[in-house]
Amino acid sequence: MVTPKLACGASRNLLWIGLLATLGACESTEERDWRLAQEDGSFGAFKRFLGRYRSSPLAASALRQLWQRAQDMNTLPAYESFLRADPEPRHRALAEQAIWKIVEQTNSANAYQEFLDEHAKSPLAAAARDAWWQLTEREGTMDAYLQFLERNAGSPQGAKASEVVRFLWPTTMVGRPTCTLASNLAVDLSWSRVPGAQSYVVDWSPSPRFRKETTQWTLALSTWKKLGERAGSPDAKLPMYYRISAIRHGVRTLPSEPCLARLLPSKHGTACQICGEKAIGYCHLRRTFVCRAHATFTDEHGQRWRCP
Ligand SMILES: [Zn+2]
Repeated sequence: MVTPKLACGASRNLLWIGLLATLGACESTEERDWRLAQEDGSFGAFKRFLGRYRSSPLAASALRQLWQRAQDMNTLPAYESFLRADPEPRHRALAEQAIWKIVEQTNSANAYQEFLDEHAKSPLAAAARDAWWQLTEREGTMDAYLQFLERNAGSPQGAKASEVVRFLWPTTMVGRPTCTLASNLAVDLSWSRVPGAQSYVVDWSPSPRFRKETTQWTLALSTWKKLGERAGSPDAKLPMYYRISAIRHGVRTLPSEPCLARLLPSKHGTACQICGEKAIGYCHLRRTFVCRAHATFTDEHGQRWRCP
């Protein structure tokens, strides 16, 4: 049996073409794909057709079908996908309205943000910003104002958000950091990100009161810091308290509760003073009992040691 495609491609004879055309057997690839898309009838099938034949005379029909399917599905991804197929202005406006309706019902900062990201030039963008601002004021949290500010800095509501953030920032609390002692008695500090922070200050002091004379500090641009470069004996380094403040436009938040880095009790030389596991001996270099895992270390000069 001869397939229609072969018959079409193989025929060089005008008579043949005429005959096949009248029989309806001569079908172009485009016509065949259109027929297959209709048979399939899904959103994806029409989307694929449009991807291949955007300038085809059949594109308008495909777009109408796509719009119908998007409405049947009535989801954000379906409408967004429909818009990416570049429909004519009337359908574009209708799709944006349908999207807006879903976003309005969702009524979350993330939904408004996504709407503004995707439809910044839409006539509905102003309504989205207003609704988001109302939600932000109702929530009234620092996070809510910061998220709004990040996306709407240039708007009048953005200016209000900025004012609120400036007012609330100095009273923001930072979560207590975690401090972990390393083999070389350096301290690894990490803490939770504070939304809106541009940097952090790490304070350390041998006393939890952080008296001015004994408190030192350093700056961190991420949410961790390794403090291992301080020379001196373990007695001078430990125990040590660490606390974190976040910085935004040069203003510090309240400091966090401190964490404490200290050597553990040796239990008469039986316990590692870094982790508490079974000790294998005393290290004179660090003046601590250590376990097997903490026996090797690199000192401040980069020299590797095994001790004991
Ligand atoms: Zn240990």
